[in-house]
Order: sequence, then structure tokens, then C-alpha cells
Amino acid sequence: MFENLSERLSGVFDRLTKQGALSEEDVKTALREVRVALLEADVSLPVARDFVKAVQDKATGQAVTKSVTPGQQVVKIVHDALVDTLRGEGDPGALKIDNPPAPILMVGLQGSGKTTTTAKLAKRLKERDGKRVLMASLDTNRPAAMEQLAILGNQIGVDTLPIVKGEDPVAIAKRAKTQASLGGYDVYMLDTAGRLHIDQELIAQAAAVRDVANPRETLLVVDGLTGQDAVNVATEFDAKIGVTGVVLTRMDGDGRGGAALSMRAVTGKPIRFVGLGEKMDAIETFEPDRIAGRILG
Ligand code: GDP
Repeated sequence: MFENLSERLSGVFDRLTKQGALSEEDVKTALREVRVALLEADVSLPVARDFVKAVQDKATGQAVTKSVTPGQQVVKIVHDALVDTLRGEGDPGALKIDNPPAPILMVGLQGSGKTTTTAKLAKRLKERDGKRVLMASLDTNRPAAMEQLAILGNQIGVDTLPIVKGEDPVAIAKRAKTQASLGGYDVYMLDTAGRLHIDQELIAQAAAVRDVANPRETLLVVDGLTGQDAVNVATEFDAKIGVTGVVLTRMDGDGRGGAALSMRAVTGKPIRFVGLGEKMDAIETFEPDRIAGRILG
């Protein structure tokens, strides 16, 4: 997930820890290299700049160069700063699903992994939290996408709302709500239509569905391989629809990881889950501490 970044940083820190005594200049040089490594990982410039400044300030404040193990102390400060950059408020894995049936709205561009993620989360809610979940596809433009959700539902043993031809997304959302109430479901998940780009129609449709469903969570699914683009998509979706968190998919790929590092700092929205493959179990809660550990190797 962060192989390149991790390799670059361990190069910098190995040199630092081996060196023993450090001067202010040594620390500055190392942090310049950290900044370059972050930018190469596609972390946005302001985030990389703020990050390095925070580390520099802490290192100076803690008089790192005078300590017995200055290199290790710098690594510790970088670790803590990474966690600060990644962490949002609250527990990323705790979905707000009290007051059944709780609606969860899934939004995102076509191909981001939205339908797959909807099913993965439904499976997780069912198996880990013992919840009864109903899934509904609102992608009326793509009958294949509606079918796909039904197939995944069968595979994981989660009910899907029967497909009614000719129904519009708002009507489907209303029917899902009724069905969820009558059927005694704890959660109903609305898998909205995606498009290749954010356009008026996509936003208008998602907003109309949001207004009837009044979701407890609106999760934006973005492709982690798209780097800063993923962050731009999140900024736009949040401004137009309002999201409660982000799911970053394809983190099993060899992406540079920048989206993960910039997301919260740029959008103010936490990453809640990461997708790590095509299989239905390939999803994890986003844990800043563990991610920082992975980045630092
Ligand atoms: P949607 O158009 O946003 O609903 O996207 P889909 O859920 O149909 O996913 C598109 C493709 O990406 C499918 O082949 C999925 O199996 C794949 N996919 C989804 N999430 C992940 C992930 O986390 N890792 C990998 N490697 N593939 C994923």
C-alpha cells in the first residue's frame, strides 16, 4: 500500500538513527527528504508542507539534537505527526446505525468500487454486529449494476430490494425505507448511481435521494489509486452532498498512498474504511496508528 513511501522514509531514518549525534542541520536535511518523499507519494503540497513544519517544530521544542538517541526521537515525532494527520474524530469503524431501520447512503463515481463496498459493509454489519441488512441499488441507468448487487447479496446472504423496472431512484429509496421498516431490518443501504465524472445530474439525483432517505451515514467511495484526484472528488462530493466519511478502495494496489495521507487534512472528512481486494472480506477499518506503522515500516 505504501511500499515506495515506506522505502524512501526508511532510507532517510536509517541514516539518521545510525548517525548518533545530530545537528539542527542534519534534522533539517532529513525533513527536506521526507517532504520530497511525501510529494512523490502524491500527498498534496500544503499537507506535506504543514506536516514537515509540525515535525520540525516538535523536534526543536523537544531539543532532539541534545538527546541521547536523536534519530529515534525524530522517528517517533514523525510517527505521531502521521497519526495526527490521518486521524478524524471518533471511531472510524463505528457506523451510526441506532434507531432502526438506519439508512446508509453510498455515493461515488462509477468504477470506484461502490457496489462492492456496499456489499462488503453489509456483510460486515451482518457478521460482526449481528445486524439485519437490506441493500438496494438505485443505479437505474445501468441494469447490470442492479443485477450485480443482487448477485453479491446472494453470495453473502444479505437481502436486496427486488428490482422493479421503470422505477426512479427516489421511488426506490422510498420503497427501500418502507420495506426495511416492515421487514424489521436494522440497516438499509442505498447504492446510488455512479458516473464517470461528477456532473449536475449525478449530484441532483444523489441529493434528491439524500433528502428522502435522511441517511445516518453518507459514505463516499473513492479509488485510492487515483491519488490527489480522489481527494478532489471527495472535496466536491462533500460540498454538494455532504459526506460523513470516505472509503478508500484498491489500497491493495501499488498506489502511492497520497490520497490516504491528504484526505482528512484537505477535506476534513475521515477515512472510515479501506478496500483491500475484490473479495467480500477485503475491507478493514482505517486505523491511523496501524497505517502510520506501515508507512514507517
Ligand atoms: P462501482 O461502479 O463503483 O459500483 O464499482 P464496482 O463495485 O463494480 O467495482 C469495480 C471493480 O473494482 C470490480 O471489479 C471490483 O471487484 C473492483 N474492486 C472494488 N473494490 C476493490 C478493492 O478494494 N481492491 C481491488 N483490487 N478491486 C476492487
